[in-house]
Amino acid sequence: MSSIELRLRAVRDRVAQAAAAAGRRPEDVDLIAVSKTFSPADVRAAAACGQRAFGENYVQEGARKVAALSDLPLEWHFIGPIQSNKTRQIAETFDWVQSVDRAKIAQRLAEQRPAHLPPLQLCVQVNVSGEATKSGVEPAHLAELIEQIAVLPRLTLRGLMAVPAPTSDLAVQRRQFSSMSELRNDMCKRGFALDTLSMGMSDDLEAAIAEGATMIRVGRAIFGERG
Ligand SMILES: *Cc1c(COP(=O)(O)O)cnc(C)c1O
Repeated sequence: MSSIELRLRAVRDRVAQAAAAAGRRPEDVDLIAVSKTFSPADVRAAAACGQRAFGENYVQEGARKVAALSDLPLEWHFIGPIQSNKTRQIAETFDWVQSVDRAKIAQRLAEQRPAHLPPLQLCVQVNVSGEATKSGVEPAHLAELIEQIAVLPRLTLRGLMAVPAPTSDLAVQRRQFSSMSELRNDMCKRGFALDTLSMGMSDDLEAAIAEGATMIRVGRAIFGERG
């Protein structure tokens, strides 16, 4: 078995155990394999083990991989910071974008999503840990941003994404993820049916699943350490 296959199996086991511990079904947690810095051959190896959804942080690198792997039925998620001058390529290349934190970016994506493609699936990134340098909308401004995005054409608003401050303190991990769950519940009460909560990475996926993640984004635990 290849190392990617072994690691992918180990991640799936972790997901199954965390889901069981939380009284949830493992199939309710979608696994996104974060392939940034890894080669198309590595993505192909993961795809051969049944992995379908992949995440990329850099537009150019992601677009190259999408083109190189267009023979496979893969789903591509853009999860990195978004500059205005990159929105067209994101709108033309990806199935999902998870890192929208400004109305202007969403408007550009809506205008630039090609008509022959299905709507771009969108998550709003939230700065849940309140770090000044972090991407993501402040929780206090989330509802306003969601209202602006919900009316845009060519986009389907799916949910919220977060990259909390890294910490090995399990209680802090749980607290950050539970704030995200509460934010999603708030938005649902306001009438926005968000079905996606994208949170949890290689080191904290258990805490995220315990707090209701429906999507986890895992890189190193599948592909190995990044060079
Ligand atoms: C790199 C990255 C991940 C994956 O992180 P790992 O620690 O490799 O699992 C998930 N989400 C985002 C936004 C990332 O940039």
